[in-house]
Amino acid sequence: MWRGLGMDVEKHDAFLSALPGAFGEVFLQQPNRPAGMAYFDNLLREAHSRRVKEILEEKKAGHPVVGTFCVYAPEELVLAAGGVSVGLCGGAQFTVPAGEQVLTRNLCPLIKSLVGFKLERICPFFQAVDFLIGETTCDGKKKTWEILNEYVPTLVMELPQRKEAVDGALWESEVRRIKDEVERRSGVTLDAERIARGIKSANARRAALERLYHTRRADPAPISGRDALLITQLAFFDDPERFTRELNSLCDELEVRVAKGEGAAPQGAPRILVSGTPMALPFWKLHHLVETAGAVIVAEETCTGTRYFAGMVAEDGRTVDEQLRNIAQRFTKVNCACFTPNSERLTDVLRLARETKADGVIYFSLQFCQPFALEGRRVEKALQGEGIPVLRLESDYSAEDSGQLKTRIEAFLEMIAGQKA
Ligand code: SF4
Ligand code: SF4
Repeated sequence: MWRGLGMDVEKHDAFLSALPGAFGEVFLQQPNRPAGMAYFDNLLREAHSRRVKEILEEKKAGHPVVGTFCVYAPEELVLAAGGVSVGLCGGAQFTVPAGEQVLTRNLCPLIKSLVGFKLERICPFFQAVDFLIGETTCDGKKKTWEILNEYVPTLVMELPQRKEAVDGALWESEVRRIKDEVERRSGVTLDAERIARGIKSANARRAALERLYHTRRADPAPISGRDALLITQLAFFDDPERFTRELNSLCDELEVRVAKGEGAAPQGAPRILVSGTPMALPFWKLHHLVETAGAVIVAEETCTGTRYFAGMVAEDGRTVDEQLRNIAQRFTKVNCACFTPNSERLTDVLRLARETKADGVIYFSLQFCQPFALEGRRVEKALQGEGIPVLRLESDYSAEDSGQLKTRIEAFLEMIAGQKA
């Protein structure tokens, strides 16, 4: 199977050999994990076997396999065509050096890592895709799509960076263009019935993720931030119907735990909201450091967190035209740092801090991520204005700064404990 995908099998095995140790240390050693995590643990273990096989079967049956990199990509349309949408990750240090061979070094690790996955031929999902959907959310990504297009056909959606009527019209026309492309490449006509199914499926997954996030408002939180992060990362890969079913069943368990007062961390543990850049699989460093220092992460204002499920697509569209408009309108409800001005994001962070009863916020940006690093100042000021402690951290995927991060996190948690006492 690997050779058929053009993989570099030796490098792939070297990449995978480091994962079980990291996975065991970050996830399996946690006390009081919910039983329902077994499904997600297995999904991760079998991501490079069972899930790849499933996707290859879909491909053999003529269904398109499409890679995406952003929560603005209209995956409803891929699902409507009976295709598979995979959110390709770039969260590993292993592939950063390969990415640096064709990109500048002063680029965020997410981009370097994702390009490295393609160049090294070690990601079976990347190898399986028929085409990619990129977007112009930041300069790094925008120029990267031109390079990736040399390896895999890469469609680029122009995302406007304001939310005025004219911007909505541009984005809607981009969504229409993608619909035409998906039709052309899949040979499937996307009628209203098919698109309605795609919207329903994507919405159901968002609703399940939102339900998971609601359970975390309890004290004690019924699930750790690490486990919640892993679930959200896996949402980009799994079969949407099965994922939604399994997540709802985990949420049933979590709601019982909340009713009984059972937690993944002791009651009264410092509650942290993480805000900032998305954390692609397998980037778990920040969550691991924060939670092994005794705190619990109660939400992520990131695209591997609340931005993933923000803004359900309205399901009342009866015609293809109305449905495409509804899909396009979602972009006004997701507050990525690429927008200007972006005051809605400040409102969102403050709301989440309040709703989750966070004792403090860790604002995290990946090195060289200009949009999120620059917006950090405004988010920090808004939080300070409400008397909410903030710690700003910047890092990459390497383990080199773990000691330094740990010291800063511990000092932050001590300060919070002092304020609570
Ligand atoms: S942070 Fe912005 S660019 Fe990145 S996935 Fe989220 S919405 Fe897309
Ligand atoms: S928005 Fe930031 S983290 Fe995302 S791709 Fe661009 S530079 Fe990297």
